[in-house]
This record gives sequence, C-alpha cells and structure tokens, in this order.
Amino acid sequence: MKGLSSTGIHFSTEKEDLMCYGFDASAVESSIPRVIVWPRNTDEVVKVVKYAHKYNLVIVPRGAGTGKTGASVPIGANCIVLSLEKMRKMLDVDTKNLTAVVEPGIVNAGLQRELEYSDYFYPPDPASLNICTIGGNVATNAGGPRAIKYGVTRDYVMGIEVVLPDGNVITLGGKTYKRAVGYDLKDIIIGSEGTLAVITKIRLKILPLPEDVVTLLLLFNALESSGLVVSKIISSGLIPRTIEFMDRFSIEAVENYKPTGLPSNVEALLLIELDGYPATIKKEAEQVVDICNSLGGDTIVAEDDIARERLWEARRSISPSLYHIRSTKISEDIVVPRDKIPVILVELRRLSEGSGIKIISFGHAGDGNIHVNIMVDMEDRDEYTKGMAIAKKIFEITLGLGGSISGEHGIGITKAPYIGMEIKGREMELMKGIKRLFDPRGIMNPGKIFP
Ligand SMILES: Cc1cc2nc3c(=O)[nH]c(=O)nc-3n(C[C@H](O)[C@H](O)[C@H](O)COP(=O)(O)OP(=O)(O)OC[C@H]3O[C@@H](n4cnc5c(N)ncnc54)[C@H](O)[C@@H]3O)c2cc1C
Repeated sequence: MKGLSSTGIHFSTEKEDLMCYGFDASAVESSIPRVIVWPRNTDEVVKVVKYAHKYNLVIVPRGAGTGKTGASVPIGANCIVLSLEKMRKMLDVDTKNLTAVVEPGIVNAGLQRELEYSDYFYPPDPASLNICTIGGNVATNAGGPRAIKYGVTRDYVMGIEVVLPDGNVITLGGKTYKRAVGYDLKDIIIGSEGTLAVITKIRLKILPLPEDVVTLLLLFNALESSGLVVSKIISSGLIPRTIEFMDRFSIEAVENYKPTGLPSNVEALLLIELDGYPATIKKEAEQVVDICNSLGGDTIVAEDDIARERLWEARRSISPSLYHIRSTKISEDIVVPRDKIPVILVELRRLSEGSGIKIISFGHAGDGNIHVNIMVDMEDRDEYTKGMAIAKKIFEITLGLGGSISGEHGIGITKAPYIGMEIKGREMELMKGIKRLFDPRGIMNPGKIFP
C-alpha cells in the first residue's frame, strides 16, 4: 500500500520502497521496516511519533541514508522509518544576525549553493555533501574537510526544534550567539544519532564568504613525510581551511575508477586549501610550499576553479572507488591528536604489511581524522574475521595515542560493540541515564550507540 494515511501523511508499505529504506552507506545488513512515512511538517512528525508511542512501534529517523555506521538502518519488524526528505525548505536567512533557519531534509550542498549566491557560507562540508541532509549532519555532528579551520556541525547549530518521543515539541537554543542558562540540551541532541528526538527545524550560524581561496596539491615519495608536513604546518601557526590526505592505495583506487590525473607514482598526497584575503593567503601558501620542500615533497598549485574542482572530485570519489577493489571494506574513522598523525600512518601501513590485508587510508589529516578502510571479502569468513581483529587493534592503538574511535561518523550499529573501549563506568551510566530520561519507552532508534 502506498499513498496518504487517514491523517494525510505520505506513507508506503510497498516492498520495493521498504527495501530502499532498509540500508545506509555502511556494510550493515539491510533490514525491512514495517512502513516508511514522509511527513511534510512538524505537525505530521508529531502525529507519527504519537502513533508509534500509542501502538508500541519504534521510530528510525532518516535523512539521506549516507551514514556509515548503520545508524539509520531499522532493526526488527516494528520499525517506522521516518524520512525527513520532504521537509527540505530554507525557511529564513537573516544577514543582520548571520543565521539561517532550515528544515532538516535540506541537502548540505543545496544550502551551500543558496548561501554562496549571496556571498555567505556554511562551513561544515562532509564529503557526502551532495546527498546528505543537514538534519543527518546535526544528528551525527558531521565534520568535513573544512573542520580544521572552521569546526564541525555542532559549532554552527544555534537552535533546534525537536519532537520528543512522547510527541511534545520543544525549541532549544535560539537566535543569540551566546547563552548561559542551565544545561545545554541542544548540545545533547547534536550527535545523538536519532536516539533522543526527531529534529524538525535548525537555526544555523552562517559566515561571510572568504574573499579568495588557494588550492595546493602536495606530493610525497615517503608516507611519513606527509604526516610530518601536517604536524609542521599546524605547529608553525598556519591554519589552512583543509588538509586532506590520500595514501598511494586511495590514489590508485580513484584513478582506476574515475581518472582525474592524480600522479600515480607517489606514496601520499595532501590537498591543502587556504582562504582569506588574497595577499595573506599568497604568503601563507609560500610558507606551506617551503615546509613541503623542506621535507622532500613537491607542490602543484591549482590554477583555476576547474583544476580545483577536479581535485575535489578526486577526493570525493575515494569512498565509492574502494568498492571496486574488494567486495567489503571495514571502514573506521579514527581520530588522533594532530602531532600523532605520522605515528598512526606508519602503524596502519605496518598492520597492513604484517597481515597481508590491504588497509587504505585517507581523510581529514588536518584534524587528525583518518578514514581507515580494511579491504576484505565478506564471503571469506576467515579473512573477514581477521579484518575485524585488525579494526579492534587499530582502535587500541588509536586510544593509546590519546585519540578516539570516531571523529565524525558516530557509533550507530557497527561501532556499538567497541564504545566501551572509550566510554566507561560513570560516563557510560550517565549517557544511558540521559537516553532513559528522554525516551523512557525506548522508541527512538533502538539498538544504536549502546551495545
Ligand atoms: C561518500 C561518503 C562520504 C562521507 N563523508 C563524510 C565526511 O566528510 N564527514 C562526515 O561527518 N560524514 C561523512 N559521511 C557520513 C555521512 O554522510 C554523515 O554521517 C551524514 O551526516 C549523514 O547524513 P544523512 O542525511 O545521510 O543521515 P542518515 O544517514 O539518514 O542518518 C544518520 C543518523 O542521523 C539520524 N537522523 C537523520 N535525520 C535526523 C533528524 N531529522 N532527526 C533526528 N535524527 C536524524 C538517523 O537516525 C541516523 O542515526 C560520508 C558518507 C559517505 C557515503
């Protein structure tokens, strides 16, 4: 069945629809929900939540399903997938206060384009920006290449409207840049992966568009040099807006999948952007080139917007290109203190060579966030088990370096068995207590975050 419910809400129980909403971008096995609903406004979200509350069904909020941890994958037969896709309006842009109000289903790149027409910008730019939604970004506290200079989604959320699991609607935060009244509940919802409430409106901080951007490609014949350059740039006081890292395997994967002209004979590259006033960034770019040369690297400058866009296209193609190497990638997004980047890169290469399993690394090296892909064949159970053991070992090394098991993708289903390696004792009890307080009947996205 498909159409409008008696309360006027779009829904479907057609098998082909249910299948399309049963997975995300992780390797988590897909699962079939009972029904999908597409509310068009907050009132309709309230009706769905109250219905679920009354009939003991559970709600799985869903943006675009680009999540990498199974956080929007339904578990069990009692699930209503609540897709926010139809709530995608830009409701207000207030340039006097530098804020924009959006519905959760607006796609990140769409918002970016709208703002850039009027010389404003919204910095968080996950590599999935052409598909993922702002609601999903808030629910996962998404980061992106520009996080090194501008921070992550949390730094741009000024206020949210949410529907609580009992159907009450509350607004948290607001239009002011500062606020010091009691606990910041907005910050608890950010990154809660749909386990506490449905986000139905978001007020974001926006910034004036920087005057100019310089894009540099740094090439290295030694993996470690690329990590040392990252550390040296940061410690020299420069703050580029991106420092993206690709190892040799990810360069090869992209060039085999969608050739963009990246050099194939290097061990690693860094994609660096500086933004600001032209004279300032020219000087900063010269400093970056000097640092790169001092550690034996070479530099290429993107001459125009087309060259710049080609480099970003290559960077954004890494994830899909990896599926052409092996059938399964165990993807992790560890983050380490920035001075530990050279150490973790070498450790990852050592683990790969020692195990005979290809580990491909790329990511936001500027903030220490490396996407690690352990390439295995799911059908080969021995290899898969070996791959999972490597993932656990990588978490141990990361935590030993003072890092975290997730920089931006969150916990969802895939990392739930490992959360206890990082969050322990009273901290874990407090987190579970918060979940119980918001959602005593456990109807919001059950089975996620907590093992
Ligand atoms: C190619 C690729 C590149 C990526 N690059 C990055 C990157 O650079 N940085 C990064 O941080 N992530 C990245 N990701 C991961 C993913 O895009 C982000 O986690 C993104 O924020 C998810 O948004 P979504 O709209 O797809 O949400 P979904 O995947 O649909 O949902 C993610 C979580 O948010 C919850 N949720 C969604 N909407 C709401 C709502 N309105 N209210 C309450 N809960 C909600 C869901 O229940 C789920 O728990 C990448 C993914 C891919 C496939």
